Amino acid sequence: MSIEVKFWGVRGSIACPSPDHVVYGGNTSCLEMRVAGKVLIFDAGTGIRNLGKDLIRRKVTEATIFLTHTHWDHINGFPFFVPAYNPKAAFHVMAGHLTDQGGVERVFSAQMANPTFPVPLSAMQSKLTFEDFTVGDDLHPGEGIVIRTAPLRHPNGATAFRVEHGGQAVCYVTDTEHEPGKPDEIILDFIRDADLVIYDSTYTDEEFPQKIGWGHSTWQEGIRLCRVANAKRLALFHHDPDHNDTAMSAIEQQAKSTWSGAFAARDEMVVVIE
Ligand SMILES: [Zn+2]
Ligand SMILES: [Zn+2]
Repeated sequence: MSIEVKFWGVRGSIACPSPDHVVYGGNTSCLEMRVAGKVLIFDAGTGIRNLGKDLIRRKVTEATIFLTHTHWDHINGFPFFVPAYNPKAAFHVMAGHLTDQGGVERVFSAQMANPTFPVPLSAMQSKLTFEDFTVGDDLHPGEGIVIRTAPLRHPNGATAFRVEHGGQAVCYVTDTEHEPGKPDEIILDFIRDADLVIYDSTYTDEEFPQKIGWGHSTWQEGIRLCRVANAKRLALFHHDPDHNDTAMSAIEQQAKSTWSGAFAARDEMVVVIE
């Protein structure tokens, strides 16, 4: 039994392809988990384009897409997710922050509306289904898989996911802002004993005072939470586009020397929990 995690986009805010962003990558948030024969996709930032090409290569025509929230950096890749145009494919899109705001389907069709995109959502010929759940609900995407959900502190709301299968747990916790000196009790509880925590590490503690209210956290807070909650590994995630490869490698070294379980996620990195 294993949970295989592949990072397809690790940036926050906006895609940042450039010669200075080659090592860690420039795509916005998207990751894939392969669990018990199921493909679970988390967020649909620009990274989902390459994931789509990979799914076609692997002949995968079914998956569930879980959205932390619907800010651009988490949904903008979806119109370029080619498998969604295949009439033989089926995708189920789920979000937990829009139950009182018209639901997730409305946001996906608005993003592809005239005149900001050439074809409407209905041009996607796969069987596309949308579901709004209430944050806090447990989700059951397949035999023996439980996904727990929790609210995050982010403008317009966001949802954290904890994927559990066969005694293993991977938590996806982005985008969220912490209060310095006051660990988020909901997150601490949520990530307890997890094998891997993927955490909003947009900023450093040094940068954070200038970014209060922006809805993001720091890699140092990620380490503090993981230590207290007895999590095994921490993936720094949702990197600031202003952190080029030089900055990212300095951050990663510092993080690793602070806590050996930490590493920085990169586009196309694979982590297998077994
Ligand atoms: Zn984001
Ligand atoms: Zn956001």
